[in-house]
Amino acid sequence: MSEQHENSAPGATGAVSHSAGAGEGGSGDLGARYREALLPVFGTPQRVLARGAGCRVWDTDGREYLDLLGGIAVNSLGHAHPALLSALSKQAETLGHVSNFFASAPQIELAEKLLTLAAAPAGSGVFFANSGTEANEAAFKIARRTGRPRILALSGSFHGRTMGALALTSKEAYRAPFEPLPGGVEFLEPGDLDALEAALAAGDVAAVVAEPIQGEAGVRPLSAEYLLAVRRLTREHGALMILDEVQTGVGRTGQWFAHQAVEGLQPDVMTLAKGLGGGFPIGAVIAFGPQAHDLLQPGQHGTTFGGNPLACAAALAVLGTILEDSLLEHVRAVGAGFREQVLELGHPQILEVRGSGLLLGIGLGRPVAKELAAAALDAGFIVNAPDESTLRLAPPLIITAEELSGFAEALPTLLDALPDPKEA
Ligand SMILES: *Cc1c(COP(=O)(O)O)cnc(C)c1O
Repeated sequence: MSEQHENSAPGATGAVSHSAGAGEGGSGDLGARYREALLPVFGTPQRVLARGAGCRVWDTDGREYLDLLGGIAVNSLGHAHPALLSALSKQAETLGHVSNFFASAPQIELAEKLLTLAAAPAGSGVFFANSGTEANEAAFKIARRTGRPRILALSGSFHGRTMGALALTSKEAYRAPFEPLPGGVEFLEPGDLDALEAALAAGDVAAVVAEPIQGEAGVRPLSAEYLLAVRRLTREHGALMILDEVQTGVGRTGQWFAHQAVEGLQPDVMTLAKGLGGGFPIGAVIAFGPQAHDLLQPGQHGTTFGGNPLACAAALAVLGTILEDSLLEHVRAVGAGFREQVLELGHPQILEVRGSGLLLGIGLGRPVAKELAAAALDAGFIVNAPDESTLRLAPPLIITAEELSGFAEALPTLLDALPDPKEA
C-alpha cells in the first residue's frame, strides 16, 4: 500500500497540493504557519477550513465544499447542529469536567443508553475513553486479563496508533518504525475459516479482534458467515470476540452498531469512538455480560478525561437526535439510493460500491483514487482515498438524497478528466 496517513487530509497526502495556500488572502499564510508549527505526521493539509454548517464547510478563502467525509465518520450530525451546540453549551454552563473520583449524570445516562442500544445483557458495563485508539487499548487490556497469551487480529485491520492498538493493526508501514510492539498478536486473512479454527484450537487465544467493515482497508465488509463463525469459535474455545466499531458504530451503517445487521451476533467487547460525540472527542468500551465485565478490576485501568460530562452530553445529543429524527432509516434509505445511482452510471471505471448505510467505498478499476479525491476537492466535494483504488464516503448521517445525488452526477466528469495511468 502507498503512503496513506490515517486521519490525514482527504485525498492524496504524499502528493501535497499547496495550491490552496499559495494565493493571496489568509490561507497561504496559515499554510506556511502550519508547516512551521506542526509536526509533519499528516503531510500538508490541502485546505484550511474556517467554518461549517450542516453538510457544508468553507475554507479560509471562502470556497464551499460538500462534506462527504464528515471528519472521517465523526460529524454524525454535520457541522454546528443545534442539538449538539445546545447540549454542549448547557453542559459547559453547568459542569464541564470532574475527575473520576466523582460521577456525573450525563456519564451514567450515556452508559445506560449505550447498554440499551447494544442490547447488552444484565451484568454488562461501559468504560469511557477519549478516542478510538484508547478504547482499543482498554479492550486490549481486557483481553490480557484472560491470562491467555495470544490475540488474533485480521489482515487489513486498523485499530489505532497507540502502542497496544498499533500492535493489533496490520499495516507494516504503521508498525515497523515503532517495534517492539506489545507481543502475542497474530494476523489472519479475513474470511479464512480454516486458519481461524486452527489458530483457536490450542485454547490459548485471549481474543479475536475485528472490524465488521474494515474502514481504513478500503471499506471491506466481513461476511456475516465469517462474523458468525468468529462468534461460534471464540465461544467454543473460551476466547473473547472483540468488535472494533469505532468507524462503523453509532448509526453509520444504518444500524446502531454494524454487527446488529447480523442476526444473533453479539460480541463480548465492543469499542466505539468517531461518530459517538459528533465531533466532541469520546470513546467507549462495552463489556457484554458478567464475564467480560469482571476482567478489569478496580485500579487496573483509568483515564482523566474519559467520561467527562461535556463529552457525554455531546454523545447523548447525538444518540437522541439519531433516535428523534429517525436517522437510522434515513441512513439506510439515502445510502441505498446513492449506491444504486452510482452503479446505474454504468461508468467503466466504477467496479463496485462496498459498505453499508453511509460508510461507502467506491471501488475503481484503476489506481487513481487519490487523484480522483483531489479532483473532487477542487470541484467542491470532500471525500478520501483509503487505498489507491477506493474512494470513501462517510458523510454526516443527516445528508440529503439531493446532496448525495449531486456528487453521483459529478462522478463521471471527474473520472473522465483524470489523466491516463502512468503504467498504461
Ligand atoms: C479511526 C479508527 C480507530 C482509531 O481511532 P482514533 O480516534 O483515531 O484513535 C480505531 N479503529 C477503527 C476501526 C478506526 O476507524
